[in-house]
Amino acid sequence: MSEDDTRALLVELAASLFARGFSVGSAGNISVRLDDGYLITPTNSSLGRLDAARLSRLDGAWRRLSGDAPSKEVFMHRAVYTVRPEAGAVVHLHSTMATAVACLKDVDAQNPIPPLTPYFVMRIGARLPVVPYYRPGDPAMEPAIREAARGARAMLLANHGPVVSAATLRDAVYAAEELEESAKLFLLLRGADPRLLTPAQVEALGA
Ligand SMILES: [Zn+2]
Repeated sequence: MSEDDTRALLVELAASLFARGFSVGSAGNISVRLDDGYLITPTNSSLGRLDAARLSRLDGAWRRLSGDAPSKEVFMHRAVYTVRPEAGAVVHLHSTMATAVACLKDVDAQNPIPPLTPYFVMRIGARLPVVPYYRPGDPAMEPAIREAARGARAMLLANHGPVVSAATLRDAVYAAEELEESAKLFLLLRGADPRLLTPAQVEALGA
């Protein structure tokens, strides 16, 4: 895909996320790995109203080449790409349901959302670590995200929101959507006794 096509797709998918309430205001940011650098949504931009020509274009060392200044959360994206060579895109949202799960105290910090559906397992994998809370902008968050990303495609930042990666931009967005819907299912079923996928069923999905 050409860089122009990638820019257009990013704007389209971001607007779709915004239109359906996956992000509000200027929350959330999306990046894509290119052959020679990265594209990322600009700081203080709304996913609903991005301009393809003003996306931050960074080189392979994360220096800005063109476009508006990158999201202040760019380091989260850098942390994931650094340890996941197969990651082609990263989506970070403050989406309501996943963030709600990220605020729960009494969950498994390695697997807060149990395997309720095969789609969650296929999109997110068998692990969804919860990264401890850090003040926004705290540089200590980057190594913590790197550590979590080593063993997982996606994670929840405690009291903040999800960070999701995939090989392509489209897949990263789909995975972020699946995570949000799975978080909703999990919250709907709290206090109930749902049938979970068995370990063998999870394994059969290739997770
Ligand atoms: Zn954030």
